[in-house]
Amino acid sequence: MLDKKNFYINGQWVKPNSSEEIKVIDPATEGNCAVITLGNKADVDMAVNAAKDAYQSWAFSSKEERIGLLEKLYENYKKRWADIAEAITLEMGAPKDFASKLQAGTGASHIKSFIRYLKNFEFEKPLGEHAPNQRLIYEPKGVCALITPWNWPMNQVCLKVMPAIASGCTMVLKPSELAPLSSMILAEIIDEVKFPKGVFNLINGDGAMTGDALTSHQDINMISFTGSTRAGALISQNAAKDFKRVSLELGGKGANIIFKDADPEAIERGALRCFRNSGQSCNAPTRMLVEKSMYNEAIERLKTYTENFEVGDPKKEGEHIGPVISEAQYSKIQTLIQKGIDEGAKLVAGGTGKPEGLDKGYFVKPTVFADVNNNMEVARTEIFGPVLSVIPFETEEDAIKIANDTAYGLTNYIQTQDTEKVQRVARKLRSGMVDVNGAGIAVDAPFGGFKHSGIGREAGAHGLEEFLEVKAVGGWS
Ligand code: NAD
Repeated sequence: MLDKKNFYINGQWVKPNSSEEIKVIDPATEGNCAVITLGNKADVDMAVNAAKDAYQSWAFSSKEERIGLLEKLYENYKKRWADIAEAITLEMGAPKDFASKLQAGTGASHIKSFIRYLKNFEFEKPLGEHAPNQRLIYEPKGVCALITPWNWPMNQVCLKVMPAIASGCTMVLKPSELAPLSSMILAEIIDEVKFPKGVFNLINGDGAMTGDALTSHQDINMISFTGSTRAGALISQNAAKDFKRVSLELGGKGANIIFKDADPEAIERGALRCFRNSGQSCNAPTRMLVEKSMYNEAIERLKTYTENFEVGDPKKEGEHIGPVISEAQYSKIQTLIQKGIDEGAKLVAGGTGKPEGLDKGYFVKPTVFADVNNNMEVARTEIFGPVLSVIPFETEEDAIKIANDTAYGLTNYIQTQDTEKVQRVARKLRSGMVDVNGAGIAVDAPFGGFKHSGIGREAGAHGLEEFLEVKAVGGWS
């Protein structure tokens, strides 16, 4: 079992003040794979103080210095790529190939992309040609609390740490207590790169104690949070007391609208996008809306596809999916599958219980429900497991209405060959992102949601600006 009890504060690994420890569990075996400490208020104070002291000079560091350090960080990240991928497989069960290509891969893409945006960003510029004496100055927001979940650990951490560094902020990262190992490797990389002391700090801990102490700390100026809508609301309350800036990336319940003229792979592609990462993606298309005239064919195809979909050991190579993160998540998914059956949705494939031959580990059967109506719990709740709810629709207007009838608004999907229809529907969907015909959303496109899916945007130029305050100076000469 790995000993990961120390925190990274003020440029060194330190023994925590807290003696409360928890085990990190490998979800594929249910065995303990590491031990970490849950930081208390004294640990949070130490980390925030280090970040606050470092901010005094880091805020005025040059763009060139920050680019140089980020470029070194990127080189060292590439050297530790395999270690990061292996840690992600261990801590959250992402299969080997997926962990390397996508999980560790998106982290690398964000580092590279933020370097590019930093190089091109103008931190000082005139308001416009009409007002040359009016100056806009973009300044770092200050000391940031960065709180991340377990489902895309390096992706989410890099979406916060890299723009925070690029903008001149200092930070305390608290990764998910369920999947802290990859973040601790990132801290080792940052240590090797030799950032000024206190710019980046990492503490481990849970939400109730460590997360709460961090987000209510008076010296935190900004909170960037990714996780559940429940925790996002609690964090916003803590932030409101002293007007901390808040950026929230929360849950989703994406609709994938399949029109009858969709391309031949649209149905299977939609199921794959739902099941990938064992269904644990906030932007997963978990409600498949299918035009009535092709509904029966779609259900038949989904049955065949899902019954042949492989679930297996994440340490093995291949395109299969692994377990879900924890026993609690496994039980929640089982309860929701049962709820779907009880509410009268038609079970087409999968169901409750573990896949054959996988008795140990939190493995879930990929599951498809047909004849779902949008008021059923399986259509309303974010299940965060490989469970697809299929809903028939008659007209374009119906499809848009069903897609928008949700508390969330993160990513919706459209499948049709009709370009005018694409544009009409994309304009009417109430979500931060719309993915058409499997094109995907670019790594540097603004990532974030409408409604209960959050506030603010991550990635690219928008993600960098989240960490900056704008100041207007009149009479600049
Ligand atoms: P979670 O909210 O329980 O935990 C996320 C992080 O917040 C963890 O680090 C946790 O320790 C911390 N936390 C929990 N309660 C807190 C509190 N009261 N104060 C401060 N910190 C607290 O979420 P989870 O179960 O780890 O992650 C799954 C959720 O995250 C899903 O709902 C998913 O949709 C969402 N998510 C959203 C995005 C996005 O970008 N929109 C991306 C990934 C995950």
